[in-house]
Amino acid sequence: MAKGDNLREQVARLRTLSFAMGAYRPPSEGGSASLLLQVSANCPWNKCTFCEMYKGQRFGFRPAEDIKADIDRIAAIRDEILTASCKLGMDGGVGSELGTALLAAGRDLAANPGFVTVFNWLAGGGRTAFLQDADSMSMRPQAFAEVLAHLRATRPSLARVTTDARSKTLARRKPEDLRAIRAAGLDRLHIGLETGDDELLALVRKGVSGAEQIEGGRKAIAAGFQVSEYWMPDLGGRERWQQHAENSARVLSAINPHYIRSRPLVPRRGTPLFEEVEQGRMHLSSPHERLQELAAMIGALEVSSRLCFDHAMNAWADRDGRLLFRQDYEGYGLPQEKPLVLERIREGLDVEESRHVHVRRLMAAQAL
Ligand code: SF4
Repeated sequence: MAKGDNLREQVARLRTLSFAMGAYRPPSEGGSASLLLQVSANCPWNKCTFCEMYKGQRFGFRPAEDIKADIDRIAAIRDEILTASCKLGMDGGVGSELGTALLAAGRDLAANPGFVTVFNWLAGGGRTAFLQDADSMSMRPQAFAEVLAHLRATRPSLARVTTDARSKTLARRKPEDLRAIRAAGLDRLHIGLETGDDELLALVRKGVSGAEQIEGGRKAIAAGFQVSEYWMPDLGGRERWQQHAENSARVLSAINPHYIRSRPLVPRRGTPLFEEVEQGRMHLSSPHERLQELAAMIGALEVSSRLCFDHAMNAWADRDGRLLFRQDYEGYGLPQEKPLVLERIREGLDVEESRHVHVRRLMAAQAL
């Protein structure tokens, strides 16, 4: 008898189980094979001129009861996978051999997102979860805490639960509500800072000021969250790179987040910013100019944060043609490694600009 033949019962049950998931998660959550769970759908703001993620999609809160029912369905999927593992004598282990056996018994499971996500999460150790979509902290604090408590109670293996949040929402939340959500089991917030420059924030319709970003970030840290701030090199183009660098450094220094993550601008087709670039109202910086902007921003930072280049668009080359910056999720420790990062930037500036082809190719392929 083939290994998969006695798994028909599990496969039949797995086919009936699904739960809501959004489309996006940060790369660091992909790296840890995070469990994905949607607590609200899309973005309540949805106006940033550079962002295409949720365009045309309506924002909606999900009732706490629905999310908790999804958590229970995830538990049921996990249990079927673990039962299959035990049936095959794998003692609850989840890996490629079990995956092959399950797919042999039910090839269609490969196209079942709920099964695939839970399987990969278990295979990755089942240690982290990411709550979608763009601004989970806009959910009623009490309902959000209830959902988190249910997640933690049914998933004791979770070492880290994270979500995306807007600075504006954090700035508006009462400190006691933030503390209650933290106590209920949310560990880390991913926040799209983009820039600290007020003129640029207004131009890209971010819907928040630098002062509110400082307030939101500081309140989150005071409540005990780990904070990841995402900044967007070249968002100001050639016209505003200097004020973008100076004010991003000022605001990030005032927040002093645990992580600062570089996400260089890629104009996305269908966004207002793409139109601006195409019509010549905004001029993108060259790879060397982007590095000069990085040097100005990073040089002015006064933080004790991890500085990360964990995205493919941080694609400058060093003199050997390798990546200029490490792209791991923990990055460089500041302030100790600031001289090293600035030295890497100087090396990138010494490399003939045409050799930073990866950046140009990616820009051409993805957007222009
Ligand atoms: S707040 Fe975030 S998800 Fe929403 S439109 Fe702006 S960048 Fe996009």
